Amino acid sequence: MAAQETVEHKYVYDFAEGNKDLKDLLGGKGANLAEMTNLGLPVPPGFTITTEACNAYLNTGQEPDGLADQIAAHLESLERGMGRKLGDPDDPLLVSVRSGAKFSMPGMMETVLNVGLNDRSVVGLSRQAGGNDRFAWDSYRRLIQMFGKTVCEVPGEEFEHALDEAKRAKGTKNDLDLDADDLRGLVDAYKKIFAKHTGREFPQEPREQLDLAIRAVFESWNAERAILYRRQERIPADLGTAVNVVAMVFGNLGPDSGTGVAFTRDPGSGAQGIYGDYLANAQGEDVVAGIRNTVPLQELEKLDKNSYDELLGIMARLEEHYKDLCDIEFTIERGKLWMLQTRVGKRTAAAAFVIAGQLVDEGLIDLDEALHRVNGAQLAQLMFPRFKLDHDFEPVAKGIGASPGAAVGKVVFTSARAVELAAEGESVILVRRETNPDDLNGMIAAKGILTSRGGKTSHAAVVARGMGKTCVSGADELDVNIPAKKFTVAGQTVSEGDIVSIDGTTGKVYLGEVPVMPSEVVQYFEGSLDPEHIDNPLVRAVHRIMTHADAKRRLRVRTNADTGADAARARRFGAEGIGLCRTEHMFLGDRRELVERLILANTDEEREAALDALLPLQREDFIEIFREMDGLPVTVRLIDPPLHEFLPPLEQLAVNVAVAQERGEDVAKEEALLAAVRRMHEENPMLGLRGVRLGLVIPGLFAMQVRAIAEAAVAVTRAGGSACPEIMVPLVGAVQELETVRAEAEKVIAEVVGDSGVEVLIGTMIEVPRAALTAGQIAEAAQFFSFGTNDLTQMGWGFSRDDVEGAFFWRYLELGIFGISPFESIDREGVGRLVRIAAEEGRAARPDLKLGVCGEHGGDPDSVHFFHEVGLDYVSCSPFRVPVARLEAGRAVLETTGSDSR
Ligand code: PEP
Ligand code: MG
Repeated sequence: MAAQETVEHKYVYDFAEGNKDLKDLLGGKGANLAEMTNLGLPVPPGFTITTEACNAYLNTGQEPDGLADQIAAHLESLERGMGRKLGDPDDPLLVSVRSGAKFSMPGMMETVLNVGLNDRSVVGLSRQAGGNDRFAWDSYRRLIQMFGKTVCEVPGEEFEHALDEAKRAKGTKNDLDLDADDLRGLVDAYKKIFAKHTGREFPQEPREQLDLAIRAVFESWNAERAILYRRQERIPADLGTAVNVVAMVFGNLGPDSGTGVAFTRDPGSGAQGIYGDYLANAQGEDVVAGIRNTVPLQELEKLDKNSYDELLGIMARLEEHYKDLCDIEFTIERGKLWMLQTRVGKRTAAAAFVIAGQLVDEGLIDLDEALHRVNGAQLAQLMFPRFKLDHDFEPVAKGIGASPGAAVGKVVFTSARAVELAAEGESVILVRRETNPDDLNGMIAAKGILTSRGGKTSHAAVVARGMGKTCVSGADELDVNIPAKKFTVAGQTVSEGDIVSIDGTTGKVYLGEVPVMPSEVVQYFEGSLDPEHIDNPLVRAVHRIMTHADAKRRLRVRTNADTGADAARARRFGAEGIGLCRTEHMFLGDRRELVERLILANTDEEREAALDALLPLQREDFIEIFREMDGLPVTVRLIDPPLHEFLPPLEQLAVNVAVAQERGEDVAKEEALLAAVRRMHEENPMLGLRGVRLGLVIPGLFAMQVRAIAEAAVAVTRAGGSACPEIMVPLVGAVQELETVRAEAEKVIAEVVGDSGVEVLIGTMIEVPRAALTAGQIAEAAQFFSFGTNDLTQMGWGFSRDDVEGAFFWRYLELGIFGISPFESIDREGVGRLVRIAAEEGRAARPDLKLGVCGEHGGDPDSVHFFHEVGLDYVSCSPFRVPVARLEAGRAVLETTGSDSR
């Protein structure tokens, strides 16, 4: 029998052993350091401890078996490579211990620099630095400070305080004025602070320092701010962080040293060029701390031409290798360039499109890859109007871009005032510390919402996004005083009525009125820019990528539109039909009176007269829509909401009647109306007499609508057009409901269409859970299904959709019960499962069943992917969302064919 050899699990990878595709295991930073090492770029040597080791530690509270030995082996080879030993008194190797998760979590986890320094190696470091004592002692005090704070939880302020003390004693405010002796004294003070808080001396043993630092980085995965960040960014909690142990290089060894960051293209606009900042004689932390001002990277050419040229060469190489915009961090140690980090860089929505287009032109990627690299959320951002900031508008504050758009208006501090001013036709910006459900009316009335507290999932942010309203949240530079009706920012006081401008994309806040300009992308979709002659690089890129998405996608994209104007706009935006025409708005305005007559009718004659009066009006509505959608399918939904919605509100009517009675006026008509309103009052109207139930209870109502649709279709067709109506029955839960309506509708259609050639389909919404679960039966009576995912979500979760988002969703998001409102993005596991079951069972019963979706989810990027995957034929969404859905439908094809290359 062959000897059993136990293969030890590998927890540590030398940089030379990894590559950029191992992000799950090595984290983003580690994988990219490995990639650069293997490209032969100048990366300080080091190794990465895997996320698996981190997870094992976090699960058991102990380093996994074998980890310590593997670290020892890799450290040894690092020492061999560097010709130095960790913490050696004469010629020490120092290392940094850096976190690095799969997804970038900037500043959320820990890093410890200068590990390996102690009372003896500090002398060796000074010698290495050419006798630079000051540098060595400064490095040592930084280690004790960072190590104390991150590894041993010593309160950071104590170190800060000691540093301030030292500066005060020296009579200076600048760290750089402290000399070697001052810093040596500070090291003593720091050690005392360390001992006082930990009950032990600062560890002098380099390997112990290293082990404790690694452990601290593991633990920082579960730091409160990291947990919060993950929740907000929807990063899974179980990924863990890798730990990178890297030989230290120093950018603060004199004027021939320095540190910087750079992008290979402009991450704001996508323009080609060199973008970056450089700080001579400094370490990375100094750049972050903003103690001194950086200079543009181009200045490095004058300071150190060799390093500059080498850096540019590396940047070009990285772009070619990653085939994308890269951002990098580098350090120059006495004229020698070192690459500390690279990754595919973050960019604005505009830059994402522009860069993807450029890379296609440069032959680095193909159009599939370009399509993969942009997304619908970015496209949606580009469709909002923007501020025109070409003159001197400086933001006074920067919060979180919580809901995109550019809003300008008069400041108000209360919901009531917002409503008042808006009623006078003013644009207002509602400013609050944070909002709560009581602010809902004000939020509806306002052009934009600005809060000084709260993040991306605060009440203000969530509700504003739901309303599509511009919102900046968490602008904490604002000192908001609601009772005094003012806020102060940057030394200025802003009172009620003053004008501010807020940018919900960037989170920036401006005083005064910043001019707003329309989106070029919308102008392009509107057809006012000729795609063949576009010189705007953004629009050109959008055009190319959209054209490619259209060629790729299988899902058709329709629109939800109730008017000819909306239909026309959606068609310009690329809609391929109407997926939902809600007929109820057609019953409002001056037609309300006719509806009232219908509802109050006491006899068949009265009812028929009211329906006869409504018929021609409805027909005209449909003629207009069929004309705009000539040749394309139009799904018209029969009336859905409870009829009492078309009557005056109960309380108001009761008061009016009482007042009129008091005055002795004749109120017979009002009394009849009041009685009807009382009779029709429902505790839960959304679960009451609505949808198909109305059609079954009010004789002739649906028949009138069906007749109007059929007559309109015949009229348009006879006039040379082509109308393709699809009649949709709402709120069906049982096939018998649909069968009854269908029999009546078919009779009317047969009467009307005659030999006109018009074909009318009859189908149903699937928006009641029971309908989804009995879809096989329902399909026997339906030529199409359209998923009403708004109601399906409402009834699936038992959430009243008009109430819950403003009332408590912020709390659900905060608790992580869901990462996004299920009304915004389909709940795949629950509501999505109902859709999947209904699609499968419906198709099994009727193979040519047409399947679509017309709930709000039809325009949500993630949901579009889901609907593609489930095999629907089309999605339908509001006109403005049509381009987003087209783009995502194209991207969904790439996803299922697995072209994910990043
Ligand atoms: C739905 O329920 O998803 C739907 C489209 O209908 P409405 O939103 O009009 O209830
Ligand atoms: Mg519905």
